[in-house]
Amino acid sequence: MPTQTLPLTISMHPSDNVAIVANDGGLPVGTVLSSGLVLKDKVPQGHKVALVDLAADAPVLRYGIPIGYALKDIPAGSWVHERLLHMPDARELDNLPIATVKSAVQAPLEGYTFEGYRNADGSVGTRNILAITQTVQCVAGVTDFAVQRIKAELLPKFPNVDDVVALEHTYGCGVAIDAPGAEIPIRTLRNISLNPNFGGEVMLVSLGCEKLQPERLFPPNTIEIKTASDTRGTGSAGPLGVPPLQGGETRSGTGGLVCLQDDAHVGFMSMVESIMRQATTHLQRLNARRRETVPASELVVGVQCGGSDAFSGVTANPAVGYCTDLLVRAGASVMFSETTEVRDGIDQLTSRASTPEVAEAMIREMAWYDAYLQRGKVDRSANTTPGNKKGGLSNIVEKAMGSIVKSGSSAITGVLAPGEKLKQKGLTYTATPASDFICGTLQLAAGMNLHVFTTGRGTPYGLAECPVIKVATRSDLARRWHDLMDINAGTIADGSKTIEDVGWEMFHLMLEVASGRKKTWAEHWKLHNALVLFNPAPVT
Ligand code: CA
Repeated sequence: MPTQTLPLTISMHPSDNVAIVANDGGLPVGTVLSSGLVLKDKVPQGHKVALVDLAADAPVLRYGIPIGYALKDIPAGSWVHERLLHMPDARELDNLPIATVKSAVQAPLEGYTFEGYRNADGSVGTRNILAITQTVQCVAGVTDFAVQRIKAELLPKFPNVDDVVALEHTYGCGVAIDAPGAEIPIRTLRNISLNPNFGGEVMLVSLGCEKLQPERLFPPNTIEIKTASDTRGTGSAGPLGVPPLQGGETRSGTGGLVCLQDDAHVGFMSMVESIMRQATTHLQRLNARRRETVPASELVVGVQCGGSDAFSGVTANPAVGYCTDLLVRAGASVMFSETTEVRDGIDQLTSRASTPEVAEAMIREMAWYDAYLQRGKVDRSANTTPGNKKGGLSNIVEKAMGSIVKSGSSAITGVLAPGEKLKQKGLTYTATPASDFICGTLQLAAGMNLHVFTTGRGTPYGLAECPVIKVATRSDLARRWHDLMDINAGTIADGSKTIEDVGWEMFHLMLEVASGRKKTWAEHWKLHNALVLFNPAPVT
């Protein structure tokens, strides 16, 4: 049953000449809007209605910017769908406004804390997970077999450890490992292994003959990987080509390696036992971790959207943006990403950069991505999906305007290239593809300890490595997916809550989830998507 009886439309900016229909099920032809305008077409929920007569070639304005140009005359009251619009070209990357907006300095938000796991390198985890890194896909089956046994036989003995997760991926061999771009998947895998939720314990399973050798994945200055206690159980452990630490040098942790082709392995079960033995040493240390009260500034939040609709940019993403500002005020780290979904708003981003260097770094990342897409003879418009369009998003320009609001209004103080590790607080543009899995994987590599994901069409997305708070853009979705969605931002369109209300609700839920007091629905059902490494280099 529709919840709203009165026709409800939402426009985002005073200059907009279209508005979207908010009512569940849309509005029928002949509906009289509160302005007196009569609908000339049936307009589905989330889709646009022309508020005035639009002449052919006239700009169609949403968020106060042209999201397209009318292909023919469109009378007021008509349904404005993607087949009636010509999409503008992407803005060029020169002559952009650089650091022109001085964001109002907002009062620090003090006194908010959560219960987290403090690590030796200063980072803080929100979960206590044994992650098993793999150099190559070849070992995935054996590792998975061992993980099932670890969960059944070992995990019950270590009650403070939340989970055991194999960091499975398809990289590691059959790849041009020295080609430009290959550094991205390699550093991504390295940095994921060092995610704060894994407590600095790096356990590595390798095959032996693969291109991505353990020393290449973890060069000496990153982490000390020791070979597994000898597979015959004599306990001899030797460093793997790792020089001793020099004065002042630090490493992010220590690790252990199991190599399946090791001569000592006779039969499949001896490999499984090696993995289980190595896991035990890590589980013992992880089990000693305890939560302690830490300031909210230790949150490292990655924001993302997927399965977007026209409400994403009206309800959920603005609420995330409000929450982003709260987090920045609390001294936390927030990452926004999804290059093809912010490309059309590059001028907004460069103007919000805190320094010219930050703006230049953003332009560099966007230019790199433009060239990457060009090699495949596409551009950022390849982003939108059939579901986006069904949900009312006509094109990537409209989608980008709704996506970018997740970044809130704070100054952008940092930029990360794909796979790099975050080293600063505040708001950072973390350059990633918009692909849900690749974006989530790269944000994990950056050090994300909490993920916020908005969806309008609906996706059961989750990650095994980090809690994912999912936000529905519409009340209809939140009702139907009541045991998958953690927050309903559709209440903003219904008029029962404000963007600020939902932003604060999100902030408080983050502290509860980060503390382990609450589980997200994805955690409850153990819904996990694959890690997907971004490999722009050729395979062989
Ligand atoms: Ca996405």
